[in-house]
Amino acid sequence: TGSGPPVPRPGQLVARTAGPNPPVLSCRALRKVFGGHVVLDDLDLDVAEHEVVALIGASGSGKSTLLRCVNLLEDLDDGTIHLDGEHITDPRVSPDLVRRRIGIVFQAYNLFPHLSVLDNITLAPRRVYRRDRAEAEFQARELLARVGLAEKAGDYPDRLSGGQQQRVAIVRALVNAPRLILLDEVTSALDPELVGEVLTMIRDLKADGMTMVLATHEMGFAREVADRICFLDGGRVIEEGPPEQVLGEPTQPRTRQFLRRII
Ligand code: ADP
Ligand code: MG
Repeated sequence: TGSGPPVPRPGQLVARTAGPNPPVLSCRALRKVFGGHVVLDDLDLDVAEHEVVALIGASGSGKSTLLRCVNLLEDLDDGTIHLDGEHITDPRVSPDLVRRRIGIVFQAYNLFPHLSVLDNITLAPRRVYRRDRAEAEFQARELLARVGLAEKAGDYPDRLSGGQQQRVAIVRALVNAPRLILLDEVTSALDPELVGEVLTMIRDLKADGMTMVLATHEMGFAREVADRICFLDGGRVIEEGPPEQVLGEPTQPRTRQFLRRII
């Protein structure tokens, strides 16, 4: 814009861009219909850089569909999604290039059983994004080491616990250095004693400043890790705010009803 590079203010270590950045994720008026059933209904959601947003709501409220739409795994019936200010639901945009910038992890069955841990992580970078094999493997090993799974690189998924498999799936979502990570009930399919190691990894990602949207039934974890909680009902965000407000003093009868049922 001709204003030159941003100048650090006194006491500021890193030069910030002048003015507020656009949200990392901006969803406007999303609408998704499955067989006449409205699943996302005029849904708006903004996520700022480094922000962690937890999506809560009853089964069928649209959490997974929202995450799948953001990752362009589903076509919208209406609405727009921007990533870092770029309109990614423009049909001219390549979904593969968008998915490189957004990592996603599902509830279960994430890994390919016939591929080693290392190949699971590097398959997409090599095949889809044409990245150099040695470079992709080097980065994958580095990430595995960071999460204590270095010695599992050559193993097949069935040799790993469910918790280790989910941690590998998260590593795979991180390997393209995404701007945003989407986590869809990533601990729901795990035995209770394996949940902790996955939650620890998500905590570490937050500490690193990763921007995340996570759908979860773990209210304790949502309260701890989320900067903001969005309660979905019928495909809309009907209440949102800081965890202590949404979970502690919900204003909407539907939110109160939901929390009474699950806590
Ligand atoms: P949540 O993750 O909050 O449980 P979902 O997004 O999975 O909710 O589902 C929302 C609604 O959309 C549900 O009624 C579900 O049955 C429906 N739905 C989701 N995916 C499909 C699909 N591929 N085809 C038809 N209906 C679907
Ligand atoms: Mg779901």
